[in-house]
Amino acid sequence: MPNKKKTILVVGGAGYIGSHMVRKLIRGNHAVVVLDNLSTGNRKLIQGGEFVPGDLGDRKTLDQLFSSHAIDAVMHFAAFSQVGESMHHPLKYYRNNIAATITLLDAMVRHSVKHFIFSSTAAVYGEPEAIPIIEDHPCIPTNPYGNTKLAVERMLADCDAAHDLKYVALRYFNAAGADGSGEIGEMHDPETHLIPIVLQAASGQRDHIQVFGTDYPTTDGTCIRDYVHVNDLAQAHLLALDALLEGAGSAVYNLGSSKGYSVREVIGKAEAVTGHKIPVMEAPRRAGDPAILIASSDRIKKELGWKPVYDDLGAIIESAWNWHTKERAARA
Ligand code: UDP
Repeated sequence: MPNKKKTILVVGGAGYIGSHMVRKLIRGNHAVVVLDNLSTGNRKLIQGGEFVPGDLGDRKTLDQLFSSHAIDAVMHFAAFSQVGESMHHPLKYYRNNIAATITLLDAMVRHSVKHFIFSSTAAVYGEPEAIPIIEDHPCIPTNPYGNTKLAVERMLADCDAAHDLKYVALRYFNAAGADGSGEIGEMHDPETHLIPIVLQAASGQRDHIQVFGTDYPTTDGTCIRDYVHVNDLAQAHLLALDALLEGAGSAVYNLGSSKGYSVREVIGKAEAVTGHKIPVMEAPRRAGDPAILIASSDRIKKELGWKPVYDDLGAIIESAWNWHTKERAARA
């Protein structure tokens, strides 16, 4: 099956993870159509496939797209994804992440597209009761972002039952790093994610990094997260796609490295990788942040044979630094 060319619609293919997926699909011999409204994505990150500018919440655009292309599967990356922002602007998140996704799923049902891969998140779990977190852990999100992703997962289960729409929901832990080419990488404006901000501080683009919360019940008081390389995430999508196209049932999988690093440890690793001192400023906790998130990814390893290539945070940061330095040089 992997050698048989399929046509995949990548919604949000101009974003950080979506653009890595597009590259991976093209390398895997698939035809790719990217739908993106460029609200947070960047045209220059789309390095292949056919680009359809437009919004996933626009029924007319979707009808045209599904009528003019024989889409075999849809991958959906086009969501707002910042925990902090979601606390302050919940309706923005409900509108884009849920309402627009309903429009997309509705179009898929009307056009009989039966395979869907969904970017879900560790934020569906909320405060973990046990570490590492397994997929059967209770889902009690602590922020609107997590609520929106959980709502879509539930919608997908209902669509499977009613419409035979088969899906894989991939619960990402902290996506990080960049493709080895240095041609695509993480690029948000404004940037809110830890590793790119740390690298901006390392290269002098920012004066310092704020550490949000130093009184968490962790070894050094800062939050612990599980960082997983973006190309390993993309590879997991490819495996999920193959499984669905071969007739597998719907499934939910965690995607993480199964290792946790505190914010201070990330900063320390980044100093070692970049060779630059990173000035730190302690700041209050960021609302909605659980103290510790570490995945068990055993289920996808066992069922789909996922083998992440990057198991070292230093190597992940190095790939991000490679992109960061190339991107800075290109803009200079
Ligand atoms: N964080 C921080 N300073 C920053 C950005 C993030 O201390 O400028 C912390 C944040 O509170 C969280 C961790 O770094 O504990 C990872 O945050 P990020 O936004 O990268 O990902 P999230 O875990 O929210 O998906």
